[in-house]
Amino acid sequence: MNVTPFFENFIDAYIEQLSWYSAFAFPFFIIFWIVGKKYFKKIRIQETERAKLRHFKHDLGFSVVTFFVFAIMDVCILYLDSKGYTQVYFDISEYGYLWLGLSFFIVLFLDDMFFYWSHRAMHLPRFYKIFHKVHHESTDPSPLTAFAFHPTEAVVEYFVGFVLPFLLPLNFGVLITWQIFSMLNNVLGHLGYEVYPKGWVKFPLLKFKTASTHHNMHHQLFNGNYALYFTWWDKWMGTEFKDYETRHEQIFERKNSKKSTQDLHSLTVSERELFLIKEQTSENASQKAQVSAQVFGQSYEFDTEEGKTISLIRKNTQNL
Ligand SMILES: [Zn+2]
Ligand SMILES: [Zn+2]
Repeated sequence: MNVTPFFENFIDAYIEQLSWYSAFAFPFFIIFWIVGKKYFKKIRIQETERAKLRHFKHDLGFSVVTFFVFAIMDVCILYLDSKGYTQVYFDISEYGYLWLGLSFFIVLFLDDMFFYWSHRAMHLPRFYKIFHKVHHESTDPSPLTAFAFHPTEAVVEYFVGFVLPFLLPLNFGVLITWQIFSMLNNVLGHLGYEVYPKGWVKFPLLKFKTASTHHNMHHQLFNGNYALYFTWWDKWMGTEFKDYETRHEQIFERKNSKKSTQDLHSLTVSERELFLIKEQTSENASQKAQVSAQVFGQSYEFDTEEGKTISLIRKNTQNL
């Protein structure tokens, strides 16, 4: 391979990757996390915001590295395509419309399956500490978290996109639609706000598409909800959080459970203790995630005298 065209192709690919990322992650970040923050508070998945500036910087930094890796892989695909090794085609009539539609769903199914199993592998202690911890730095994820990976994990993330054009005849339009679907899904999964409507998790067919709460719970609680696009692998393998549906539904019922600190006296002793635990652990993400895992379930909000809102999630207070 001649070095100059490789370098030029790499620059083009890198700019393209960063443009895709900017087109999806930044508008959602600006709308939900900056401009419309107050307006969208009612659909915030984690009521207590723990994302700090250092998390945004961390996620942005690793995302830039991720797209560097993706661009290198893009250049390899382009080079092999120029040698006639891929099965990418442009004329739909070559394989017909039936294959065009079918191939899109096959691609999504394979991508989702690979992601589920590779993601579970990434949670094995030896891989987690070295690679996947980078992505889990944000336990309260934002759109900037969507592509924050260790460079090695970035290769794994792009693996299906890298090999499928060699294995299946894929129309260029299918590849672009897959790219858009994947980007949008990833950003919504890390949005921090629930944009899928009330009832989504119970509706017959729609419930198989992951709502934003699905992956958000994975960032908060770690060992469950591993899937990317669809809920079926987690349902089949018993790794879906038991409270996933309840948690999604509760987001739309919060106004009924809002209490003031004046109501604290009506709580039982153990509930007061839990309230204090939440307060004490607010700066310790892992400890807090542990507490949340134990008490996960019903949620309350308390408005303090200073006008600050503190959220409390409770279920089994006797476990604390
Ligand atoms: Zn994970
Ligand atoms: Zn994630």
